[in-house]
Amino acid sequence: MAAIATAPGRGGIGVIRVSGRAAPDIAVTILGRCPSPRHATYIDFLDTDGSTIDRGIAIYFPAPHSYTGENILELQGHGGTAVLQRLLQRCLALGAKLAEPGEFTKRAYLNDKLDLAQAEAVADLIDASTDLAARSAMRSLSGEFSSHVHALRERLINLRMYVEACLDFPEEDIDFITEGGVIDKLESIRNELSLLSTTAKQGSILREGIQVVLIGQPNVGKSSLMNQLAGQDIAIVTAIAGTTRDTIRSEIQLEGVPIHVIDTAGLRETVDEVEIFGIQRTWRAAETAHIALILVDATHGITENEKSILARLSGVPQQIWIHNKIDLVNSSPEIREVDGKTHIFLSAKTGHGISLLKQHLLELAGWRAGTEGVFMARQRHLKALDGVSQSIENAKKNLNQAELLAEDLRLAQESLNEITGEFTSDDLLGEIFGRFCIGK
Ligand code: GDP
Ligand code: ZN
Repeated sequence: MAAIATAPGRGGIGVIRVSGRAAPDIAVTILGRCPSPRHATYIDFLDTDGSTIDRGIAIYFPAPHSYTGENILELQGHGGTAVLQRLLQRCLALGAKLAEPGEFTKRAYLNDKLDLAQAEAVADLIDASTDLAARSAMRSLSGEFSSHVHALRERLINLRMYVEACLDFPEEDIDFITEGGVIDKLESIRNELSLLSTTAKQGSILREGIQVVLIGQPNVGKSSLMNQLAGQDIAIVTAIAGTTRDTIRSEIQLEGVPIHVIDTAGLRETVDEVEIFGIQRTWRAAETAHIALILVDATHGITENEKSILARLSGVPQQIWIHNKIDLVNSSPEIREVDGKTHIFLSAKTGHGISLLKQHLLELAGWRAGTEGVFMARQRHLKALDGVSQSIENAKKNLNQAELLAEDLRLAQESLNEITGEFTSDDLLGEIFGRFCIGK
């Protein structure tokens, strides 16, 4: 298989990757010879008629010492669309098939180069939008998460072996549960599991970030608040506006946690049909947020109109009233709970009270300040860890029924296996690798 591995569009360098048994033959045809293994070779990339398509660096990685574990040929040429397409077509004409998204990593997984959690971390590293997220993905990629999972599995296996051995001698008149310290071992596995879950949960916050919708009347201070939240940290990483009428999504970070902000600047009364369409899309996006910040002007308090905005966002799990412009009424920053709703009084202009808001956002997300050594994890992993936890709890209830206890331990191990992908269904693999970039 072959694919363009670099991002689409123009770039200084463009890379074509070819993986599979025929990679050396393709090298011989395009380069005139197969480059010596793992050496960067500056060489012409030739077309069918012998003319030069491009000149660049070719590297050949023979199996099994390559990313996929198969023979890999990498052609690093100029990053132009036409030249890369021509080169790709040439590889396809020579019998390579076009790689599917994530297929290189999938083959790496199938050839035991990576386990499933590591393979997922490859995609998470590419998708990471903050430095902290990238570092935690890198930790998972280098196997830190997996090694915790393996260590836990070792202990489960030892315990299972003991319990199952005892099953074979049911008539023995000894209390094997007490003898073997089974209760203590279960307890210690449970503690380790809970630490692992906590770290994984933090990792999943870094991966998924928090969806925040910012809503309010024109001039209430939405843009100013965005800028304050973003701070000096370059802040607005992306500001993609489909059209001026469309939803504006920005991404900022708080302590390395990605915050996806939907600015609802476009939510005003209108009769323009295109605009109405854009506004419907904005509402739909707003309704899927985790947190809604409803900005009001502290000089007039909450109006009926603003209450109706809140009602429309009743599906958003967390709603916070932001009373902005407190500098105009000479009041101090404050966070207050009224009728089960949080009210934060601040000034987007002076910055007073912004830290209250930031702290509250991170708290709602479940982020722990100063968390270190977090590795990236996905919802799928959290679910599996919950499954292990459930089986361990069951095991503790079944201490007097060795057969049930053994079965609970087996289920616990099975849930752990799901994380690193010891036994995995094709559906799950399709789901995981289908979301990768092509060429990775
Ligand atoms: P948006 O339309 O909701 O995005 O509002 P902007 O952020 O563009 O702000 C509208 C106007 O209100 C600007 O002139 C801001 O300088 C001003 N403004 C925003 N926040 C504050 C605040 O906390 N205090 C004061 N005095 N003015 C503010
Ligand atoms: Zn604005």
